[in-house]
Amino acid sequence: MAVMITDCCINYDTCIDECPATAIVSANDSPIVAKEYTYVKPEKCIECVDSSVPKCADVCPTEGAIVWDMPYAPSYHEYYMYGQTQGLYAIRVHPKKGMLSPEMQPRPFRENISIDQRQSHESVL
Ligand code: SF4
Ligand code: SF4
Repeated sequence: MAVMITDCCINYDTCIDECPATAIVSANDSPIVAKEYTYVKPEKCIECVDSSVPKCADVCPTEGAIVWDMPYAPSYHEYYMYGQTQGLYAIRVHPKKGMLSPEMQPRPFRENISIDQRQSHESVL
């Protein structure tokens, strides 16, 4: 990923228009079954690597709503596939390429964010 949105989210949706990768959708448009919160598509999130801070977190009024997740990289393919089976993610299936998994379509990520920060889902800002 990426970043993910937690149950601290108040669905204010300020973050959606800020995302340069169109990775964020409102709860109503979320592809996951629960559909309770604004959702980040991990197969699209680029962690705003060209900006000083992730733009979604920069405008979010709710502490703990946007947290780090694992890199969307081939070495975390199984992590995301397991999350998919648990209903945490709904990774897009392209009609020709198949599932846009971390192996099929890795995304840029911030190398200065440690794996510990990601595993503990530390707040982005
Ligand atoms: S993550 Fe933050 S900005 Fe985005 S909808 Fe939730 S509370 Fe609003
Ligand atoms: S970190 Fe950047 S690319 Fe990822 S969801 Fe937030 S605004 Fe979009």
